[in-house]
Amino acid sequence: MPELPEVETTRRGLEPLLVGQRIRAAVVRDRRMRRPVPRRLPQLLAGATIRSLARRGKYLLVDCGTGTLILHLGMSGRLWVVRDGAPPARHDHFDLVLDNGTVVRLRDPRRFGLVLWQAGNPLGHTLLANIGPEPLSAAFDVAWLHRVTRHRGAAIKQVLMDGHVVAGIGNIYANEALFHAGISPRTAARRLSRERCHVLAAKIRETLELAISAGGSSLRDYVRSDGMAGNFQSQFMVYDRAGEPCQRCGTSIREIRQGQRSTFYCPSCQRR
Ligand SMILES: [Zn+2]
Repeated sequence: MPELPEVETTRRGLEPLLVGQRIRAAVVRDRRMRRPVPRRLPQLLAGATIRSLARRGKYLLVDCGTGTLILHLGMSGRLWVVRDGAPPARHDHFDLVLDNGTVVRLRDPRRFGLVLWQAGNPLGHTLLANIGPEPLSAAFDVAWLHRVTRHRGAAIKQVLMDGHVVAGIGNIYANEALFHAGISPRTAARRLSRERCHVLAAKIRETLELAISAGGSSLRDYVRSDGMAGNFQSQFMVYDRAGEPCQRCGTSIREIRQGQRSTFYCPSCQRR
């Protein structure tokens, strides 16, 4: 599932291809996404010039001047760059066709993604208005993390995946950041000292930045081979490594369930 680093990598890959380009057409092949794709979207997009490509949490925001195309990759979404005329595959639900013949194509087999339109300020959209601070911004710091966890008795792993606490972190990077911070995923959020919140905030940032820079090296491939880079599996310390030795101490990585999601951690490095 794409999280902040994958979405940011996508944004950086697409930005030079999209910004300043005029949209020739938008093609909607299947409106049945997590929310229905607006019927008027092709009319709204045709002829618009793309001013910028921004990201908020896991949302991509394509500023078209008169409004913003909001894209979310859901569970299984990918944006591909193809040439005009390339035949769509079964799950290619949406195309943005540019005047220069470039097509940005959304493939989403599970259709949990979103293709929406917002006139005016995109951050005012109901889906975006209450997202927590961007983890790579100055707004996300020890003071925020400490304050927002004080009244939360839930496990810190689950709290980190709550978009109101911090934007864009899902299962993969919650697991990874907690490993790097040496914090047990089962620790009640409100029990984390200020000192440990400080370490955790720093490790969240480092983990995401590392993943983004790893993705950055595959941007060239992404554009050339007409598909985006996957996630950065080779770098994971605990995620999806149940039973493998911890790369730091050799202890077997353990897998437990928390809120219907798999949690992976090292019982020695993450004791409390
Ligand atoms: Zn370990």
